[in-house]
Amino acid sequence: MNRLSDTPTEIPDELYDMCGQARRVVVLTGAGMSAESGVPTFRDPIDGLWENFEPEQLVSVEGWRTDPGTVWAWHLWFAALISKCSPNPGHRALGRWARTWQRREAGTVEVITQNIDDLHERAGLIPISHLHGSITTFLCSQCGAKAQSVLSYPKEPSAHIMPPRCPVCGGYIRPAVTWFGEELPRKDIDAAVEAAMGCDLMLVVGTSGTVHPAAGLPRLAAGRGVPIIEINPRDTALTHDMDIVWRESAAVALPALVDGVLGDHE
Ligand code: NAD
Ligand code: ZN
Repeated sequence: MNRLSDTPTEIPDELYDMCGQARRVVVLTGAGMSAESGVPTFRDPIDGLWENFEPEQLVSVEGWRTDPGTVWAWHLWFAALISKCSPNPGHRALGRWARTWQRREAGTVEVITQNIDDLHERAGLIPISHLHGSITTFLCSQCGAKAQSVLSYPKEPSAHIMPPRCPVCGGYIRPAVTWFGEELPRKDIDAAVEAAMGCDLMLVVGTSGTVHPAAGLPRLAAGRGVPIIEINPRDTALTHDMDIVWRESAAVALPALVDGVLGDHE
């Protein structure tokens, strides 16, 4: 493994060569991708209203069953926070890379994200797979009807808010995210596995590699001899499988890499 250590934004020729030779790049993103936009990761200390809760309680089927008011209040708070954040230079760099390669017919850049925010979309790149769903979409937990109109953010975050009722069947409204204890959306899993099996380079950005099955995707690609590269300021559960480890943040590394690969600015 080639570990790029302490020199921020130092990009090895090897990585340029890999990107130059690739025709289908897949980028797997996790919570660290959006950290510099101001969206906290689950490993960041949670303070205020939620400090006594484990993330697993707030984003689990069990939590929803036993305490829907707390789970709903947390999701409203998180959705409101995301609505005030903007894509960071890392999101924008990936969008630029994908658009430029498409225009030049040089190859494809696809994103598989574990994030439930919409910051890739707002940077002009629609992920081929939203493995854990989306917190910007709401539906009925009983009949599945879409329920955007029932949503309103409280002025002040509150620790407990009961979810609104579905206008069709009276069931509770929930966000269209996948909680611990639920199956991942089939189409997103299928798209992610197909991409891992079809790519010729995989970048793994800002994920701790502890949430499965997403964490298994880099190994699928590596098993076919595809180079896998980690961009993350810290070691992760995936680090020792990597061909290259770049200890840099997403918003610094990705613009530097993409500018270098494209050879100019769009
Ligand atoms: P995680 O919280 O387990 O780990 C975050 C990873 O990001 C860590 O490895 C950390 O070192 C790294 N990181 C922190 N700052 C970074 C930066 N600036 N640049 C690059 N990397 C950085 O995240 P996970 O692996 O995605 O798993 C947690 C689950 O929580 C996911 O399923 C995800 O859906 C959900 N989640 C989503 C969001 C979001 O949508 N933005 C935020 C928090 C959690
Ligand atoms: Zn309903």
